[in-house]
Amino acid sequence: MEDKIEAFKQMVEKSNKIVFFGGAGVSTESGIPDFRSKDGLYNQKYKYPPEMILSHTFFIRYTEEFYKFYKEKMNSLKYEPNITHFKLAELEAEGKLDAVITQNIDGLHQKAGSKKVYELHGSVLRNYCMKCGKFYDAEYVFGSDGVPTCECGGIIKPDVVLYEEGLDNDTISGAIEKIANADLLIVGGTSLTVQPASSLINYFRGDNLVLINKDSTLYDSKADLVINESLGKVFEKI
Ligand SMILES: [Zn+2]
Repeated sequence: MEDKIEAFKQMVEKSNKIVFFGGAGVSTESGIPDFRSKDGLYNQKYKYPPEMILSHTFFIRYTEEFYKFYKEKMNSLKYEPNITHFKLAELEAEGKLDAVITQNIDGLHQKAGSKKVYELHGSVLRNYCMKCGKFYDAEYVFGSDGVPTCECGGIIKPDVVLYEEGLDNDTISGAIEKIANADLLIVGGTSLTVQPASSLINYFRGDNLVLINKDSTLYDSKADLVINESLGKVFEKI
């Protein structure tokens, strides 16, 4: 393991266009539950399955139910970034890292200081009135009673990609461009089972692809280096 982390460290040192692609594992180390893990959000018991609650149809039809769940389970404001978030922000500040691409919606990369973040599934930090488009922050939404409404009377919707909704085209094309131009692609904390996000790594043409995940993934054979370890334990050495 030490040898692998040393090899990773050397790759980071000689690279200047690093892109980090992260999944739920980046945030679980901050205490945020993984949506899809055995003990995660999706296996907890509610009146409806979480996949149904977090769908576009459910949001439109049962907005109050949606927000009850959303405010209880998706409020990331109380969580803090961890060593991985901070190290990535540092690498960006040093001019070595080009972008972070994340499947997480918690905003912890920005909280750690990262500037260039592609949020494939949106962010709880951004919320818009469905009627007039006015912006509202997460404090407003999580602090509201019942369904958060705009001063115009419209219903506010979080800018997160719900089930049945497509990913944002500009975010996808921006992420692809960064991956295609990267010299080192670090994929961390994701089992790469969620499409279409996981297929993005196929655009990588650079020198080294590194996978850091506790369990093996379908892409292990494609990687130059696979580290089956927690992200924090790897990034604290960088
Ligand atoms: Zn409005």
